Amino acid sequence: MQTIPKASTLTELIALRAAESGSNIAYRFLPDGEHESHSLTFAELELEIRALATRLRRHTEPGDRTLILAPDAGDFVRAFLACQYAGVIAVPVYPPMPFDARRGTETIRAIARDCGAWTVLFAGHEAYRDIIREAAPELAELTWVDAGQVAGVDTGGFAPAPVRPEDVSFLQYTSGSTSLPKGVMVSHRALMHQEELILRAGGFTADDVIVSWLPLFHDMGLIGNVLLALYVGCEAVLMPPLSFVQRPIRWLRAISRYRATVSGGPNFAYELCVRRIPPEDREGLDLRSLKAAFNGAEPVRAATLEAFTEAYRPHGFDEQALYPCYGLAEVTLMATGSPLGTGAVMLDVDLGALQEGRLVTGGDHRIVGSGTPRLHRRLEIVDPATCERVPPGGVGEIWLAGPDVADGYWGRPEETEATFGARIAGTGEGPFLRTGDLGAMHEGNLFVSGRLKDLVIVGGRNHYPQDIEATAEVAHPLVRRGCVIAFSAEHDGAERLVVVAEVKPAAGEADLDDIRRSVRTAVSSCHGVQVGDVFLVDAGGVPKTSSGKLRRRTCRAAYEGGDLVAAARQLEGAL
Ligand code: ATP
Ligand code: MG
Repeated sequence: MQTIPKASTLTELIALRAAESGSNIAYRFLPDGEHESHSLTFAELELEIRALATRLRRHTEPGDRTLILAPDAGDFVRAFLACQYAGVIAVPVYPPMPFDARRGTETIRAIARDCGAWTVLFAGHEAYRDIIREAAPELAELTWVDAGQVAGVDTGGFAPAPVRPEDVSFLQYTSGSTSLPKGVMVSHRALMHQEELILRAGGFTADDVIVSWLPLFHDMGLIGNVLLALYVGCEAVLMPPLSFVQRPIRWLRAISRYRATVSGGPNFAYELCVRRIPPEDREGLDLRSLKAAFNGAEPVRAATLEAFTEAYRPHGFDEQALYPCYGLAEVTLMATGSPLGTGAVMLDVDLGALQEGRLVTGGDHRIVGSGTPRLHRRLEIVDPATCERVPPGGVGEIWLAGPDVADGYWGRPEETEATFGARIAGTGEGPFLRTGDLGAMHEGNLFVSGRLKDLVIVGGRNHYPQDIEATAEVAHPLVRRGCVIAFSAEHDGAERLVVVAEVKPAAGEADLDDIRRSVRTAVSSCHGVQVGDVFLVDAGGVPKTSSGKLRRRTCRAAYEGGDLVAAARQLEGAL
């Protein structure tokens, strides 16, 4: 039966789960993506949290910010929840790859400065710790608390911190797709509301099983999987993101093996399952248990959903389980999604009209709905320039309100006011969160069309970069999928469209011209816009965030500054 736990803070929830579901498995860990190393019941988990919180208290005051740097899922979960018990504000950060520590620590340093953290809850090998400290000396100066050490701690007399619902539970730094990451302040109240929203949307119960490879320092993995398990009182099976990316079949095998009911990721994850898992490897998969295959955090592509369904229907995948959803850190996680079991809503629209700001059905451009507003959510489509409501069917900026809208950005009152304090012109209704995303409503469903900041405006017409990118990446087999960025840049006084694309290592000198030609032709015939420049780079040349999202503005700045490195063969040819 679906039950809403009686906890008004995450701190209370930890204790409640240990008391009510103590002997149930909370988490199973697959550190290599295949073999289960260990599992933890809710009671065992609480003991570990208690021990670490006791130690953490010796170094912190309630309300302090503590960075969490823990590549291993078990360490991460314990560290994050220990912060809640100690009343400390958790700040999850991306654990850099050892071979890329210098670049990887840049974001962590920026975050540490931004939130004024004193402590680092660290878990991992000493050698790894030393690499990071060497790469970032100012981080080495903070107090490092070993989050792995929980045995033998005397927890006598420990009581969880008296946390209030309005207190900040953690700072969720945004992905940094469009600007430097900002620390979204997520209160316990917002978090509990969001978990209730997800539970009700999915009708989840203690019998559900979650499988996740998503990064835990990011909201979808943390709130949508790890904390959802705690809230619902069900089991979550966790594997590292790298295990999935290296061999995507591991994700589907884990779903099969653990009879997972809930699992998902951004659109590219489904794409990988179609392209990187050969049909013979799919033998033996059984995806019948899956009832919510969520897809969010990035544009949802119809072609991907169709290809995934086609490929895995013979293995028990039910397309009614497709669960597109839309959200952002500023509303804790999910803003819209469907009730479970309805499948994805797709619409064929007129691309030209969409570019002019209207959603008109009856064309040949297929778009996917991201669901309907859930649980006390208010959603308005607003003209970003005038702040007036857009008439029904019109494209405008998505504005949101609801109890899970965050309290703002840590230490940035002006940006908080500008983003979280919007009011509808004329009526003064508000405050609303300005998402910076564009979309339109159709029969109750939200169709997200793109990001305001990334909009490509050429010759007075609006183009959504992801549409152009989708066309460019299939224009030639030597273009790397998911590694194409489109933007407009000024050239000779006019805005022109630039497509930056990664090419596969197999592309030889002679192929490059061919690729450029194919991309130009495909984009101009599908979108009616001339490509000013097709700039080819080698694998890894397109800038992305630590969670794998495209960084279009960074790419544009690098292009304009002459900092993009052209594919090597091109250089050789020019010499
Ligand atoms: P930053 O705010 O630092 O630029 P970010 O916006 O990528 O980074 P997140 O909060 O992690 O950081 O991501 C939320 C964004 O992801 C949304 O604002 C939206 O642009 C995009 N997104 C999420 N779900 C969808 C969806 N279903 N369709 C299209 N885009 C989506
Ligand atoms: Mg954002």
